[in-house]
Amino acid sequence: MIGKSSILGTNKVFLSCIDHAYDAVGNRVSATETTNSYSYTANALNQYTSIIGNNDGTFIPEYDDDGNQTMVKTETGVWRIAYNGENRPVAWSNGTTVVEMAYDDTGRRRAKHVVAPGAEVLHSFLYDGYLLVAESAVSNGVPLTPINYVWDPAERTATRALCTLSGTNLWFHTHDLTKNVWELLDRAGNIVAPYGYAPFGVSSFDSGVTDNRIGWSSEYADPDSGCVSYRYRDYNVRIGEWITHDPMGETTAPNLYRYVKNSPFASLDIMGLYGWRDDNCEEALKSARAGSTRDSRLGALFNDLEERRCPIPPISCGCCTARVGGYYDHGKNSIILCKAGIFSKERNVSDYLSTLKHELVHALDACGGGGDTDCSSKAGLARKACTELRAYKYQHPGWKEDTVRNNAADSIAEACFGKEMKSQIAVHGKGYQFKVEIAINAAVAAGCLGQRPGDPFPDFNRRK
Ligand SMILES: [Zn+2]
Repeated sequence: MIGKSSILGTNKVFLSCIDHAYDAVGNRVSATETTNSYSYTANALNQYTSIIGNNDGTFIPEYDDDGNQTMVKTETGVWRIAYNGENRPVAWSNGTTVVEMAYDDTGRRRAKHVVAPGAEVLHSFLYDGYLLVAESAVSNGVPLTPINYVWDPAERTATRALCTLSGTNLWFHTHDLTKNVWELLDRAGNIVAPYGYAPFGVSSFDSGVTDNRIGWSSEYADPDSGCVSYRYRDYNVRIGEWITHDPMGETTAPNLYRYVKNSPFASLDIMGLYGWRDDNCEEALKSARAGSTRDSRLGALFNDLEERRCPIPPISCGCCTARVGGYYDHGKNSIILCKAGIFSKERNVSDYLSTLKHELVHALDACGGGGDTDCSSKAGLARKACTELRAYKYQHPGWKEDTVRNNAADSIAEACFGKEMKSQIAVHGKGYQFKVEIAINAAVAAGCLGQRPGDPFPDFNRRK
């Protein structure tokens, strides 16, 4: 991992001055964070029973019977928290300020009511799926400027916000590899706010831009609670832990509070539910680049690209939210292997190499003129079907034709509408499925399944 501070100079991460020691199940035993040091004691449920700081004194965390932390010390102070039946924090109190939170039936936080002496602010949150797109607030009866977050439309599988809009202000975001917001840029590309983080997300910046809340992990840094509000859990950067249990229970790991297995440099979390360690993707890339993979089929694809004088697409590991293992970006001629799909499991090196084969077939086909960007015409859909059939066939030579066809159908639905087949049928009815079936039938009839990747496409426009 490259020290973040060395890249831009403006951000400060005191890597050399930060050290955390853990017990066997990942509870902190001690921590050194620049001039602060802490010693931690945990019980058998992996809940801290005391945290003693050289500068902060002793803090005694408390938990309820469901394992929710009810006494929490965050970046904004010490809070007593009450939870609802779904283990979501609904009332935070620090003695002077009360913060109430309300959730919709899918678990997204829809409102936050902050009451402090002489000040009352009501925040409302609006989502597109699970992405926060707008926040409006009324302060002491006066509406504040709404804040909008725009998520990159070109990277439909990315979970990173592209920019923040607040009144006439527009700030573009830059990110690091674990999707932490790294800078805000103005329209002219000037850095208006550098961001910096300690390893577990403690902010080490004072940007002066308070309207943007998206920061660590491209999630909502809540200025009231002092926690990072992921869609389903709140993360306390101060101790590098969630304030509630992993809702998946102990199937994932024995310690239900730990954040991405205490490896925030190599891992990221999506929505407070899924933590990944993503070295396998980089490992796969390294072996593919070095040609050290023993997979001759993969080597053959690279050779084919070279022989046909096709530009080798840049390949990178990315963070995806759609249910895909990777994708070929036709416009950019680039391949993204998805490290963390919301629905995907952890993937090993050969899974990534398998996906890479599939996407390289698309690259070869695109180079051979098989533009698969047209979802509106019969011929376009058939070309898409053709390249998907070839890609799955090449990726999994042992698959039966039915399996190849079904997967191709899902890919077409995903590529054309960003959704898998099942949900497309729910939205568009069976007629949509027939369209895709017709395209696949046409492609099979034209011999696409038997063709080599990169072979010229049949003319699907020709009338019979
Ligand atoms: Zn595909």
